[in-house]
Amino acid sequence: MRQNAFEYVRAQGQATRTDITQALGISAGSATTLTADLITAGFLKEVQSPQKESSRGRPRVALTVVPDAGYVIGIKLAFKRHIAVMIDFSGNLIAQADLPSGDVRRPVEQLMDEAEALIHKLLAASGKSQTDICTVGIGLPGIIDHRSGVVVWSAMITTRDANLADLFAERFTMPVVLDNDANMLTLAELWFGQGRSMSSFAVVTIESGVGMGLVLDNQLYRGANGLGLELGHTKVQLDGALCRCGQRGCLEAYLADYALSREASTALDHASPTPRAPEHTLEALFQQAKAGHTAAETIFRRAGRYLSLGLSNVVQLFDPALIILSGERMQYDYLYAETVMDEMHKLTLNEGRKPCKIAIHAWGDLVWARGAAALALSHITTRMIAGEARAA
Ligand SMILES: [Zn+2]
Repeated sequence: MRQNAFEYVRAQGQATRTDITQALGISAGSATTLTADLITAGFLKEVQSPQKESSRGRPRVALTVVPDAGYVIGIKLAFKRHIAVMIDFSGNLIAQADLPSGDVRRPVEQLMDEAEALIHKLLAASGKSQTDICTVGIGLPGIIDHRSGVVVWSAMITTRDANLADLFAERFTMPVVLDNDANMLTLAELWFGQGRSMSSFAVVTIESGVGMGLVLDNQLYRGANGLGLELGHTKVQLDGALCRCGQRGCLEAYLADYALSREASTALDHASPTPRAPEHTLEALFQQAKAGHTAAETIFRRAGRYLSLGLSNVVQLFDPALIILSGERMQYDYLYAETVMDEMHKLTLNEGRKPCKIAIHAWGDLVWARGAAALALSHITTRMIAGEARAA
């Protein structure tokens, strides 16, 4: 409950004890005890709330997070570019840094060297030292066991089942937490974005694959095994198109980069002498569709219909108030055209429920890194508030 009170104040920016009482459904006495503990521990401080006056006209006392109670680092490891941010306990951005990254699989040791170089660059930009950092949160694409820190499989690493959390912790002598990139983005929405005011929402990411993160009752839902929700590999067709996971009929096999570029190279690219990267093929396909090329338009429309199907399944299973569509591919507006949203509503039994809202966030990779920082922050505050660690 102390954690809930802390998270509530952090999400609101400022909150009075009465706000906390009402929001958490607890007694006024409990709110006083909880906030007193958090003030003593150095996480919250009292400030005067300028807008809110009590019935006697005196300014009310509000609570806010102590920003320099600690600093965390969030890192997004990705193809082409790694990016890192440092934030304080209030979520304020202190510094950011990036580093070019190759587009091939690499040994774990090489990925660690790259992360180390990035952390040094970030520390130099921030003027902080390693001892100022409470925790590092790292996100990368793949199947990641959040609890153990094992990367079961990632397109970026040559080995399977590498315990990246242990390897990082040994090298940096800082606690490290890991998660997949869709969960990072969901945490970024929960901590800093539209999800701050929502108790249940989903984030669907369309990048090189199709990912999903789910918040239920203000908590990121990780499942029994902590491996993440693989919306991209739910089946939408028995014996359907071949997916890169080796199975058939996965949503991703109709929607991801490689699926669209596979169709595009058949429909458009007969004369190209050299194979192009999927994102270049996709960009050419989009330009053709914009110019009215029928085959190109059909490919995007079909992908859009599969997206409608996937979103409708998410609504029926989880009843979220909002689905945030995110990722680089949201620049292709065919994927969220009115027809796609109409189709989604048609496929969904809506009796007695408000239609689920859809938001489009075509943010860049900085927000993913902020999500990684949110992961670190949530990890350290949970531990600190539980009494296992101290504020810096
Ligand atoms: Zn699959």
